[in-house]
Amino acid sequence: MVKGAGKEPSLVDTHCHVDLYPDPYELVRRIEAAQVYTIAVTNAPSVFRQTAALVDGKRFVRPAIGLHPELASQRANELNLMWQYLPKTRYVGEVGLDYTTTTSHSERAKQRKVFEAIISRCHEAADKVLTVHSRSAAEDVVDAFGESFQGVVILHWYSGSRRALSKAISRGFYFSVNTAMIGSKKWLNMLKLVPREQILTESDGPFVRNAGAPARPEDVASVARALAKRWETTEPESRKLLYQNFARLLRNKPVS
Ligand code: MN
Repeated sequence: MVKGAGKEPSLVDTHCHVDLYPDPYELVRRIEAAQVYTIAVTNAPSVFRQTAALVDGKRFVRPAIGLHPELASQRANELNLMWQYLPKTRYVGEVGLDYTTTTSHSERAKQRKVFEAIISRCHEAADKVLTVHSRSAAEDVVDAFGESFQGVVILHWYSGSRRALSKAISRGFYFSVNTAMIGSKKWLNMLKLVPREQILTESDGPFVRNAGAPARPEDVASVARALAKRWETTEPESRKLLYQNFARLLRNKPVS
């Protein structure tokens, strides 16, 4: 993905639902024009093939195979399809746990079972990059990976406890930040605790909206700008650091 990149540090969107925009083809054209490296996450294995075809041959977009936690128990039968597609891409997401939408213990247990199966397959593959949802379930998400997971974990739109945050930091997990997060006091306070080397950017479009319109990958530029301010550095330096973080995770090297 990084090979052949220009001299200017490129922007990166590690979590975008490309297939859920009103006109995904138009979005892909915009991504290629803006040259923002984008991970196109999917919410179910049954839509992976279509998304992979949509971005096939594109320089800046890669498809991810996912099973969203809110669909996990109802679509557990799609896991076989997931195992079939897993060798076709390095990127996995959106996967994870979400305890906001269900208080049922059995539903939560079903989500965990699916998530643990995905983690186990990714651990075997050893080179996967996972973009992970953890709403109201951060402790269980971090614990599910254990201490020696082989692969890269990106916690997308993290909003959990400080305890789970520090555990995730010590395990070398990354945190992808979007435009909604940089407007949140709670997140900005947590951001101070996260080493810069573990920060990435995401749009989470079309779910995140900016000025009434779905966020797009190019909007990560404003996240890089906000981070520069927080880090008391220049915008080019912030972009450079964010790009280096992405390049490092692609090499599957631990955060030093
Ligand atoms: Mn998402």
